[in-house]
Amino acid sequence: MKIRIYPKSLLETVWQQDKLLFAPEAEQPPLCLRCGQPLNRRLVINALSRYADVHICEACGMDEALRDANRCPLPLTEWAAVKNGLSQQQTNFEDPLLTTSCAFEDLFQQGSRPASEIAYSRSDYDGWKWWTTWHQCQKDTPVLEVAREIDAFQDALFQLPEFRNLDTLTRFCRGYAQPTSEPTEFNLYSETAHFYIWLRLITRRRDYNVYVHYYLKG
Ligand SMILES: [Zn+2]
Repeated sequence: MKIRIYPKSLLETVWQQDKLLFAPEAEQPPLCLRCGQPLNRRLVINALSRYADVHICEACGMDEALRDANRCPLPLTEWAAVKNGLSQQQTNFEDPLLTTSCAFEDLFQQGSRPASEIAYSRSDYDGWKWWTTWHQCQKDTPVLEVAREIDAFQDALFQLPEFRNLDTLTRFCRGYAQPTSEPTEFNLYSETAHFYIWLRLITRRRDYNVYVHYYLKG
């Protein structure tokens, strides 16, 4: 299992095609994925984004640098290419997407602790490594196949470079996660074959930093 980050992975896929138009100059340059204006015909005049492995226009490159210095990056979901319709649909549960919009809000109509929650993990970063504890929410131990899927997702999550430590996680949250009313707390969502998954990310030091909730699909 390899977890992909929405819409970063999709933008990078689009860019793989767009960049073929530069050979080395583009007759009709592709549009900047961030603002929707045409890129410069010469690839090197454009800027490499700090948030995805794609080139953006010179103006966007400057805007990113300024916003980065102020720690308020433009969320990738606000990029022109995303607003104009890069799909957030999950198609392949072997490579689940981390997304900023919740596809299973119905679950929470019963309250903040849906009955389908099988387990959740709670992790904190102590400055050197992650410490994780597990909480089982059902009386019965989940069947093996289902338990394996939880393990696979959890392993893949903490193998992401974004989850290397609390600094990388904090930077990642500002750029890619769904903000909440609390500026140090963020949400992300995912889905595997058997589960809806909710991640609560907390960027405060000496606190629990990552909760991963697993809800069995009906
Ligand atoms: Zn631009």
